[in-house]
Amino acid sequence: MEIKRTIKYQADRVRGFGREVMSVPGCEKLKDCIQCGTCSGVCPLSIYMDFTPRQVMALTREDFKNEVLASHTIWLCASCYACTVECPREIRITDIMYELKQRAIHEGVYPKRFPIPVLAQEFTTMVRQHGRVSEGLLVTKLYLKTNPIAALGMAKLGMGLMKTGRFSLKQENIKQRADLARIVATVDNESVKA
Ligand code: SF4
Ligand code: SF4
Repeated sequence: MEIKRTIKYQADRVRGFGREVMSVPGCEKLKDCIQCGTCSGVCPLSIYMDFTPRQVMALTREDFKNEVLASHTIWLCASCYACTVECPREIRITDIMYELKQRAIHEGVYPKRFPIPVLAQEFTTMVRQHGRVSEGLLVTKLYLKTNPIAALGMAKLGMGLMKTGRFSLKQENIKQRADLARIVATVDNESVKA
């Protein structure tokens, strides 16, 4: 993937975004970044990213919200923690990537048809509503939302596996769904307060 070298202007900034991210527990040290590039150097996936981890740290701190939230980088991050271990300023880069992912999903600005954010969203929705992940249904939803043509191509295989009982579109549920709903509502309320 080609690294973006587009010139950025002050007017592109969303004032306060960097401060907001740095106020999240675990993300505070971003302010200490010296732009040494160690994170980009050790990241096994940086060559495939549109912005390197170092660039994501700089863009976040300098309020370039739209650029980081729409970038592929945050979704390509494999959470290997190599950058976090090696950062000379002890910045928790991986956790900042998670924070950016959450914000991208919340604002619906992640790259459309890119499988990773769609998978994350479908997975979370399933757990919140049913307390269980039904793999067959999850994979089917993922294909339909990101690559429906490929889904059609796999329909025959899916039907065959369903006949033998090795694939199912049935949604599994936990027994105490009312308790789960209460837990989810409490967590949501606490997040709003925070
Ligand atoms: S390794 Fe740490 S200090 Fe260096 S650029 Fe990356 S985040 Fe900044
Ligand atoms: S945690 Fe993510 S950004 Fe950091 S080195 Fe691993 S893949 Fe790269």
